[in-house]
Amino acid sequence: MMNYNEKAAVFGRQSLASTINEFNWVTATDALPKQSGSYVLVLHLDDDKLIQVGKLGGLDCRAGSYYYVGSAMGPGGLASRVGRHFRNTKDKKLRWHIDYLRAQMSLVGCWVMVSEARIECEISELLSHNPNLTVISKVGSSDCSCAGHVYFAPQ
Ligand SMILES: [Zn+2]
Repeated sequence: MMNYNEKAAVFGRQSLASTINEFNWVTATDALPKQSGSYVLVLHLDDDKLIQVGKLGGLDCRAGSYYYVGSAMGPGGLASRVGRHFRNTKDKKLRWHIDYLRAQMSLVGCWVMVSEARIECEISELLSHNPNLTVISKVGSSDCSCAGHVYFAPQ
């Protein structure tokens, strides 16, 4: 069983040094920092479901938890970007791959880390070495060379 809010379970035990120590588990919008940074959004899907993910088309999603690695470098920082993920209103425009998943899944929480540098691909690389996680190919990585920025665990 993988615990979403246990740092070592998500990022791996060998990576507890330096940057990973800066990650904090957040479940409420008002606890999100206004600075820029990186984050790992955790979503949960209760039942297997075929989800349309923009131009990628139908994605066979199994029940379990989904971890999306992103960064918030724009105005409003993490509060703005992650706050947008936290909200799930019907009128929300589906813009990024993760928006399509978010619309069909429930929010568990988010690991957030204040940082001036964009380090989402390094974080994604860490998660790719976690034996409990499987990358969802091509999802969330249109702008980089990673295999994907979304990871799955079957709990
Ligand atoms: Zn990447």
